[in-house]
Amino acid sequence: MEFDYIVVGAGSAGCTLAGQLSANPSVTVLLIEAGPWDRNPWLKVPKGFALIMGRKELTWNYPVDYREPGIANEVWQRGKVLGGSSAINGMVYNRGNKPDFDTLEGYGGPEWGWQSMLSAYKAMEDNALGASETRGAGGPLHVSRFRGADPVSQRLIEAGGSIGLDMVEDCNESDNARIGYTMCTIRNGVRVSAAKAFIHPVRSRPNLTVTTSAQAVRLLRKGNRICGVTVRRGGVLEDIAARREVLLSMGCMGTPKMLQLSGIGPADVLRAAGIDVLVDSPNVGANLREHRSPIFQFRLNRNVGYNRMLSSRTRQAISGMRYLVDRGGVMGQSAFDVVAFLKTRPELPRPDVQLLIAPYSSGRPRKGISIEQEPGMQALGIVLRPESRGTLAITSADPDADLAISPNHMTAAYDRQAMAGLYRVTRDLFAASPIADYIDHERYLLGEPAGEDEDSLAEHVRRRGVSNYHAVGTAAMGTQDNAPIDPQLRVRGVEGLRVVDCSAFPEMVSCGTNAPAMALGWRAADMILSEL
Ligand SMILES: Cc1cc2nc3c(=O)[nH]c(=O)nc-3n(C[C@H](O)[C@H](O)[C@H](O)COP(=O)(O)OP(=O)(O)OC[C@H]3O[C@@H](n4cnc5c(N)ncnc54)[C@H](O)[C@@H]3O)c2cc1C
Repeated sequence: MEFDYIVVGAGSAGCTLAGQLSANPSVTVLLIEAGPWDRNPWLKVPKGFALIMGRKELTWNYPVDYREPGIANEVWQRGKVLGGSSAINGMVYNRGNKPDFDTLEGYGGPEWGWQSMLSAYKAMEDNALGASETRGAGGPLHVSRFRGADPVSQRLIEAGGSIGLDMVEDCNESDNARIGYTMCTIRNGVRVSAAKAFIHPVRSRPNLTVTTSAQAVRLLRKGNRICGVTVRRGGVLEDIAARREVLLSMGCMGTPKMLQLSGIGPADVLRAAGIDVLVDSPNVGANLREHRSPIFQFRLNRNVGYNRMLSSRTRQAISGMRYLVDRGGVMGQSAFDVVAFLKTRPELPRPDVQLLIAPYSSGRPRKGISIEQEPGMQALGIVLRPESRGTLAITSADPDADLAISPNHMTAAYDRQAMAGLYRVTRDLFAASPIADYIDHERYLLGEPAGEDEDSLAEHVRRRGVSNYHAVGTAAMGTQDNAPIDPQLRVRGVEGLRVVDCSAFPEMVSCGTNAPAMALGWRAADMILSEL
């Protein structure tokens, strides 16, 4: 088999890239995905992801061993199915701020600046709020506004207004401190993954081939040119040739892993794993950025919110039946109702922290879904642009061996300071009228911090917080020679190979990473096709 372009990994970026590349009938495109087709019905139900998480046939489970007493080891999950992580994510759609892309322009040039990226966002969107200066309509990706609106969420938004946040209809419309219902990748109560938006509608194109349940295990090369991929399907190895390029879209863990397995990475890491060094590229696997979050919980003093709909199997079944009637109710909604972007200090030019908020509360983490019986509210806190940098490295030449992942959360002074500010502004928000009338007391899902000073709060989050699912930076673009990829996303040191996924972002964009990954895929397709 031979194709012009082989896209490896059918996630947010890979589906967008393959869909857009194949719009040009003069090129042939193969999209390879390790997981299966997205046929499982729970992948369509927005809140169904709770029943998918951890299932090995549909998720990658990357163990993170903190090697430190007092920090619980984690498993970082990612989608392993057509659509990748966009098929199992929380469906919150945020695009980042203009200055994020000004920063990216500093790394990669004007191709990655706000004007280029805004054009990509607008072109790919079919926004339910209609086209505007910042939104697109008529594109393949449907984006809607949260349509649940529990009264307690409305009170929270009003409380945000009372502490000076803009109360917005579209939380992507400005970079101000603001609060509003989430924008979501959901259409009429059904999840819109990148596969649903960019691949399913164009499946009949004769120049697009989609291969699932095929795990890429190594890159093929002739001299310095990458010329194909070896995949393993049903235990059988098969070589597939690329006439033009191989495009790696395997996500922030999968892509650097493949590069290192192929001899592109830090020489010491490669040698220790028994891999011949093709390109000594010290930053492949370095510069890992991830959001580390506290979870704030508040007991409500009256029986409102979703706990009464989700806290037992019977209640979940009733919510499920409600969903079957018209795809409505709590099962048809994104993971969070409300999003707030806040400044921890008023003089800051733009928000530095985010809260994702919903009127439900979790019980102690255990297997399966754990929702409290009593009414509660939850806010996941995020320091938007963390400066702590982690690493990841292969431990063996075996493609199935675990990575060694060291997140190094909260090691940068900036992150610790901003985290203390996050605690302050969150409590201010929940103490403001009218939400304050609903709050009985704050509860500590992850244990109580040792103190309220900056060090105690930051240390608490380092030890007891949760990692989000937003990792970036492990094969980052840059103009400098030690950046693993150049501004055209080409891997330095070889020919015929690019990286097109979250690994390519050198810094965190101020939000979750689904929309930025898709916009990156969109821009990359433009860039590649313009070279024909
Ligand atoms: C549970 C969860 C909740 C999230 N919630 C949100 C949210 O609400 N909002 C938001 O903005 N972001 C959210 N994110 C983050 C966002 O979805 C991801 O950052 C984004 O989807 C990553 O896109 P990607 O293209 O880089 O990688 P992915 O979408 O992860 O795609 C990588 C693809 O490559 C495939 N692959 C990997 N290795 C191989 C191999 N060897 N061979 C073949 N295929 C391979 C994978 O199976 C996968 O399909 C969430 C993520 C998760 C996991």
